[in-house]
Amino acid sequence: MLLGALEAGGTKMVCAIGNENGEILDQVSFPTEEPNSTMLNIIDYFKGKDITGLGIGNFGPLDLNRKSKKYGYITTTPKYGWTNFNMVGTLSDALNVPIGFDTDVNAAALGEATWGTTSGLDSSIYITVGTGIGVGVIVNNQILHGMLHPEAGHVLINKRVDDHYSSNCRFHPNCLEGLASGPAIEGRWGKKAQELFDHESVWDLEADYLAQGIVGYILTLSPQKIVLGGGVMNQTQLFPKIRSKVQVLLNGYIDTSEIDNIDLYIVPSALGGKQGIMGCLRLAYLNTL
Ligand code: ADP
Ligand code: ZN
Repeated sequence: MLLGALEAGGTKMVCAIGNENGEILDQVSFPTEEPNSTMLNIIDYFKGKDITGLGIGNFGPLDLNRKSKKYGYITTTPKYGWTNFNMVGTLSDALNVPIGFDTDVNAAALGEATWGTTSGLDSSIYITVGTGIGVGVIVNNQILHGMLHPEAGHVLINKRVDDHYSSNCRFHPNCLEGLASGPAIEGRWGKKAQELFDHESVWDLEADYLAQGIVGYILTLSPQKIVLGGGVMNQTQLFPKIRSKVQVLLNGYIDTSEIDNIDLYIVPSALGGKQGIMGCLRLAYLNTL
């Protein structure tokens, strides 16, 4: 079965053709510009490719409530031109195929849980630390939506007293994304995150903030495994720092083999950057059943 996958990001749109086994047969990407030209590129790519369904993992926030008049819309994004854009409607009118639609991080969590390091588990989370921070959540083999969808990158954390950086989230002075996303690192230290690799204090602070968020997710969602991805997590020295800070913050309260074996519990993706687009294939497939 040929399936379409669209990873709709704030900077680029990754389009792929693949199948229900997660195999990607062809892939292209287009810059995310204003909606008209961007959508034309996407539609041109998928037209005539004989796909049975399309799965979209989209930057949010999104309306995922199938009973809502605005189901399938990108809602309150600050991204110019895309506020209240009808993503699902535009693509289903043009392509006339069933569309599975979810957040980019939920798609990545699903890809990972289907084919990656969290496969076989029924509850897991996928955290991306990049331009923003997002968390995709799988609970009891289902993507978690609820009222909207989790926006767990914006959980509030304790700012360290010696941190004078004032958050790059325009809503929250002390949320995780505002203090620990790639742009927050750059804003605080005056250099791109990738140029700060040998500054230990940068990564100690970063791990401290990420660990605070992760402890909240462990306590509320009880994931069986946690995957960390996104550009900032290319700094692999973060993993051991985060793991030990999580154990310190939990302080022995959660007594499970997972927390004891934390090297196997807080891990990078096993899909090498393809978790998002593969998750879109899975979204497409599940929606055709
Ligand atoms: P996006 O979130 O836009 O999809 P990324 O996940 O690549 O894209 O995130 C971009 C952010 O990640 C930027 O702030 C960038 O500075 C940071 N970043 C990218 N590569 C690295 C790296 N090797 N080390 C540290 N930070 C990185
Ligand atoms: Zn915020």
